[in-house]
Amino acid sequence: MRRRAAARRAFTLIELLVVVAIIAILISILLPSLSQAREQAKAVVCASNQRSLMTAVLMYTDRHNGHFPTVGYHHSGTAANERELSWVLQMVQEAGRDRKIARCPSDRSTLWPPDSDRALEEMGQLPPPAPGEVVRQTSYASNGYTVFPIISETFIYDRLSTIRWPATTAYFVELADGRPFQGLSAQANADRRLNAGADHVHAERWHIPANPRLKAAEEIEPDQHRNGSNYGFLDGHVERLKFEQTMLKAADYRVFQPTFLFNKFDPAIAR
Ligand SMILES: [Zn+2]
Repeated sequence: MRRRAAARRAFTLIELLVVVAIIAILISILLPSLSQAREQAKAVVCASNQRSLMTAVLMYTDRHNGHFPTVGYHHSGTAANERELSWVLQMVQEAGRDRKIARCPSDRSTLWPPDSDRALEEMGQLPPPAPGEVVRQTSYASNGYTVFPIISETFIYDRLSTIRWPATTAYFVELADGRPFQGLSAQANADRRLNAGADHVHAERWHIPANPRLKAAEEIEPDQHRNGSNYGFLDGHVERLKFEQTMLKAADYRVFQPTFLFNKFDPAIAR
């Protein structure tokens, strides 16, 4: 009797293998949804970052006669960088937050500097990068239309009062991370790497070639998150959009007389 009871209490090898197999199956079912949940959480943090930065930009315009913050990090990380002018540090301070809010948790760029450099920079003790050296400053970039007199002297969108449709005019985009983007030429990918160190994008150039999405990908990450990337709008809200939802050419589009069904970067037609 005693021997039979002992035998019943032990697991056979087969039973153990079945238990292990069931656990393995459960893990394989749960892991993808766990990683989806993690991705979704990152996208939410990113949107929250952009919302804080957007609020900071609007507070800044309030104190600067309606003017938007300017830019200071040029493409290619040249010695001409004017870090103190860039919106990056100014808006982080304005928002009363640390530099992390300028970084998207899904950003996979390999061009971020070590934290020790960041500390030196914040004390004004970091020498500017050597020409051609790309240093990533931010995951987000301001829309060039709001910085430069783009189309002609009569169309300048550097103040909030010149924006007719703030709720549909994008201010922040997710900046290209500098890694090669599928479909771009070697030259375009080289430019993309340089653009990863800037703090603004030239959205005014995206409508010129046949494929705006591919042209924009030289400067932005159009698919940073699932279902697109986050865009910060000038009424302060942030929206996750596929690139095709930000600009669409009309069927009768002509290069020298561009017609758009919508273009959320160009304040003239951003409605
Ligand atoms: Zn993001």
